[in-house]
Amino acid sequence: MTGIEPWLREILRCPKCRAELRDEAGADGPELVCTGEDCGLAYRFEDGIPVLLIDEGRPPA
Ligand SMILES: [Zn+2]
Repeated sequence: MTGIEPWLREILRCPKCRAELRDEAGADGPELVCTGEDCGLAYRFEDGIPVLLIDEGRPPA
């Protein structure tokens, strides 16, 4: 449970490529992972809020 309002979750997009984000369980907790084919950045949560900053995104392994 990430605590994001459903309407807000609906409009969240990757700040880099504007693709939709999917919920994933990362090693350090929930993440939002970009569905863009050439992007795939994973964004962590901080205090229940997704950190949607390109510089903070973790590139796919
Ligand atoms: Zn992206």
